[in-house]
Amino acid sequence: MNTHLVRHLGIFLLTLGFFVPALSLAGQCPPVSGVAVQVLGTGGPIADDGRASAAYLIWVDGKSRVLIDAGGGAFLRFAEAEADFRHLDFVGLSHFHADHSVDFPALLKSGSFSHRSEPLTVAGPDGSDLFPGLNQFLASLLGPDSGAFAYLGAYLTGTGRLPRLSAIEVDSENTVPQVVFGDDDSPIQIEAMHVPHGIVPAIAFRVRIGAEVIVFASDQNGNRQEFVEFARNAGLLVMHMPVPEDVTGIGRRLHAPPSVIGTIANDANVKMLVISHLMERSLRDLERSVGLVKSKFSGPVDVADDLSCYKLENQEE
Ligand SMILES: [Zn+2]
Repeated sequence: MNTHLVRHLGIFLLTLGFFVPALSLAGQCPPVSGVAVQVLGTGGPIADDGRASAAYLIWVDGKSRVLIDAGGGAFLRFAEAEADFRHLDFVGLSHFHADHSVDFPALLKSGSFSHRSEPLTVAGPDGSDLFPGLNQFLASLLGPDSGAFAYLGAYLTGTGRLPRLSAIEVDSENTVPQVVFGDDDSPIQIEAMHVPHGIVPAIAFRVRIGAEVIVFASDQNGNRQEFVEFARNAGLLVMHMPVPEDVTGIGRRLHAPPSVIGTIANDANVKMLVISHLMERSLRDLERSVGLVKSKFSGPVDVADDLSCYKLENQEE
């Protein structure tokens, strides 16, 4: 048995031993009905642990409706999850670190075979001096002059046989969350807000589907107090834990340590916390880190694996 399998087995047994209550919320994806979150990728930026980088799918009544992030490996996991590009209403790209966005053009290429004609809404952050905003990111991929994949440029124009991408940049000057999909009366409404991730413009997403609310924290250091309000009473909060508690320096400016993750989940009164975006440095200290999360948050906590599925059970009629 290779070391990767040993590690996965160890994490699996650890999960069984420490997080049994949370497993009652785990289910099979795609669910025939209702809302479920499927974690397509639980890894970080290093290809050393058999995990895909960040990507999350939301299933609604058996259809893959929302995709958040598309890091390396999302292309393969998207297929393994049996998701369908034609059913996507919305793609959110939290930021333009490669481990959150690099498989997006691969999914677009795949989708070009899907005979989809309906436009697809894509939301991402605005840019800075050092990072592109969503529009520049898309132009660098699909632009007619210098786009690396200009042959897929019909995604920008909606001419030809490809669906048009409707791009929405989330304004970093916003002091309140920005609606990026739907409205108060829509079955699906999605809001976004900037979160602190070092010098990288990054956004979190709050997805409301019927009465269910799912919040994707993205990479962030946990220092923006408004995020607690943004995540308030979520049925499921996904937070990233690539660093251990003793992280310092740039790692701390980029990421929240376990105790901060637990504090946010507690202060926001979320019903369940899912931990993802793990790296070797957080996995090697996983038991202690999860213990620190649970010392601050008494609700169910689960450490996701690729393709983990969480059914939201609290829908109100
Ligand atoms: Zn990042």
